[in-house]
Amino acid sequence: MPGEPMIDTRRLNDGGVFGAPDFDRHERVLFWHDADHGVRAIVAMHRVRYGRALGGCRVAPYPTEAAALSDVLRLSRGMTYKTALAGLPCGGAKAVLIGDPRTVKTEATLRSLGRMVESLGGTYVTAEDVGMVADDVAVIRRETRWALGTSPEIGTSGPHTAAGVFAAMRAALEHRHGTASFAGITVAVQGAGSVGSRLCELLHQAGAQLIVADVDVERAQRVAASTAAVVVKPEAIHSQRVDIFAPCALGAVLNADTIPELRAQIVAGAANNQLATPADGDRLHARGIIYVADYLASAGGVISGMHELEGRGRAGLDERIASIGKTATEVLSEAQRLGITTAAAADIVAERRFDKTPRAASANP
Ligand code: NAD
Repeated sequence: MPGEPMIDTRRLNDGGVFGAPDFDRHERVLFWHDADHGVRAIVAMHRVRYGRALGGCRVAPYPTEAAALSDVLRLSRGMTYKTALAGLPCGGAKAVLIGDPRTVKTEATLRSLGRMVESLGGTYVTAEDVGMVADDVAVIRRETRWALGTSPEIGTSGPHTAAGVFAAMRAALEHRHGTASFAGITVAVQGAGSVGSRLCELLHQAGAQLIVADVDVERAQRVAASTAAVVVKPEAIHSQRVDIFAPCALGAVLNADTIPELRAQIVAGAANNQLATPADGDRLHARGIIYVADYLASAGGVISGMHELEGRGRAGLDERIASIGKTATEVLSEAQRLGITTAAAADIVAERRFDKTPRAASANP
């Protein structure tokens, strides 16, 4: 309102949203409580662009509401950067459902979530995330069409994310060595799940040598059997002497303890929030390691989601995902030109892209 005093949100420190450490001028934050079905969820829309904000729903047994809020604020901000860098006509969002994924995801709970998503009229579009699988999304879809990842033509996001990581790796190799060939290149893949296993296949087909680790040893061994990979212990994967380290499991794997132990020249993987702190981007830079920002390398999944939302079927999807390589080249060149870290350059290129596009006026364009 004109004349109304502005609230200095930096001075709020009352455990609420505006004063939360991870609050970054998020446009909308919704707390969803459905007492009948025991549902406690939070949706954060960091930026709504073209009437939409995209991002999956994570299910986790957060120890406190503050931990859930912090996660959803941080993850939704990351989605804005991810979707902007990927050139998608939407902003970034995320939802968290508080609870143990093994017990909280009853049909009633998922349908309740679906009704919440539906009530937002397409402004927030959800998908699977950690703790949620395609079958869960199919239940959510009984209540709303604003849930992605169940199209038979496009399939689940993991393999598309892997294709994007592969494209990012090619760009980083080209930047480093002047050739994108994987012949003679060794890659250490941390996590042999949905993304990691497909990434190993792509790398094997391209002629790379592989080292793989997973806390689920059988999973690692299954992937190794079909890709001639060597299996190592999970705690040893980051310190392998390789050309590329690909984190495809957990966040915060690049930190003050692990970075001095890295023996790779390039880090490119799908895991979200790989840097434990912003200072870890500087640590990688100081060691001369090329880091392809996680939200750049892992955009294949959200690109496939947008493709589904646009009703385009499969046509043109692979090319759209391959464009991650072009963006990676732009970011790495910009870092070199400005003499800054690749993490900072990714932020700058993303901010340029989302600043250029207008905010949407309507929730249903
Ligand atoms: P997933 O659950 O299918 O696979 C993760 C694998 O990592 C599992 O096999 C798990 O056992 C393993 N793991 C867990 N802790 C480990 C450790 N300490 N060391 C080694 N392995 C460990 O998940 P996913 O879909 O393959 O996603 C992988 C990562 O990429 C996650 O961080 C996810 O948030 C991120 N991501 C995924 C997508 C997608 O489309 N699936 C998109 C963007 C980002």
